[in-house]
Amino acid sequence: MAERIQLKNISGNNLEQCLKCSICTAYCPVSAVEPNYPGPKHSGPDQERYRLKDEKFFDEALKMCLNCKRCEVACPSGVRIADIIQASRITYSKHRPILRDMMLANTDFVGTMANMVAPIVNTTLGLSPVKAVLHGVMGVDKHRTFPAYSSQKFETWYKRNAAASQDSYKKHVSYFHGCYVNYNYPQLGKDLVKIMNAVGYGVHLLEKEKCCGVALIANGLSGQARKQGQVNVSSIRKSVKEDHRTVLTTSSTCTFTMRDEYEHLLDIDVADVREGLTLATRFLYRLIEQGEIKLAFRKDFKMRAAYHSACHMEKMGWIVYSTELLKMIPGMELIMLDSQCCGIAGTYGFKKENYERSQQIGSGLFRQIKELNPDCVTTDCETCKWQIEMSTGYEVKNPISILADALDVEATMKLNS
Ligand code: SF4
Ligand code: SF4
Repeated sequence: MAERIQLKNISGNNLEQCLKCSICTAYCPVSAVEPNYPGPKHSGPDQERYRLKDEKFFDEALKMCLNCKRCEVACPSGVRIADIIQASRITYSKHRPILRDMMLANTDFVGTMANMVAPIVNTTLGLSPVKAVLHGVMGVDKHRTFPAYSSQKFETWYKRNAAASQDSYKKHVSYFHGCYVNYNYPQLGKDLVKIMNAVGYGVHLLEKEKCCGVALIANGLSGQARKQGQVNVSSIRKSVKEDHRTVLTTSSTCTFTMRDEYEHLLDIDVADVREGLTLATRFLYRLIEQGEIKLAFRKDFKMRAAYHSACHMEKMGWIVYSTELLKMIPGMELIMLDSQCCGIAGTYGFKKENYERSQQIGSGLFRQIKELNPDCVTTDCETCKWQIEMSTGYEVKNPISILADALDVEATMKLNS
């Protein structure tokens, strides 16, 4: 049975700050398409009053919440609505994770296995009979495409090709690469190393890194998420406090989970290291703003890209760092897509019972992308990438990969030497 944690302080319990204005419900992507979902106001502060008296008031319909935090961004009174909902799921839900949930949530285990036989796994997961079995037996929707696995892990590439040269730089950062970069798309990690080295920073891996745990939290495995979180925070603490290296990330969701969800949902204290953990685009933008680094770009680079605001980027308020960096590229025409949830919410959109809702939530975004017809879409979240690529056919790139493509490495090195 999955180990559960008992939260000492259920979601900060600031439900009494609710003004009953219902703005949160107007912004909730699930409420917009699902009449059976009680909505953020009712699921959050309203029902919490009753749940605190008696857990029988817990409603399993709360599992429909995406934990997108758009309700919290909209709330004029700072109620931690989604935290209240997620904390109540962790504390009261009687639902136990099934095999599918464990497979989807244990990204380190599944990724390590898949990397060993990546071409076979990638082909097999695309076959219709396999999809039918996954749908019927496991509950993974047959319409969903899985992200391809890489034959070489990012960590392996780094050890063979980058580790030896990183000490030669004058300044240093650490990199929390996350599961997606390690098992599926090492190129994003290589792109970050390329940029940081060009501006004079050595990039180091953390002493130990585990999956941030976002999928474990969403799938009812909060005990395991807490253990993994403690390993990550201890490595981040060593990097920030002992090695004096800021920890960079390239995934908005991993960043948000470690900076905020660890403390709010897993009772892990991150206060002393929270500011030492940041998205690479934010770190780079701030260095440029302070005049500490300069970037030079290729003259022949041309791109018309559409930026998608991932929900957790909205919550952190960090969209501006990624978009302002992209706008620095002379050949870039950047279009801002309307800020709306793409509907995947990590593993949520993979599940048979959620697939249709997930696609309905993202439908407006998919339509807008097709109408704009950009060269590519760009976003800071890898699961938004999977959803948009599958649902529109347009390629989706992380802003760091676009910067790396557009960078004139030699000229940038000269500017920063
Ligand atoms: S937006 Fe905030 S204040 Fe308004 S109903 Fe929702 S939780 Fe209450
Ligand atoms: S977190 Fe997102 S899905 Fe959940 S209640 Fe808030 S707005 Fe709705």
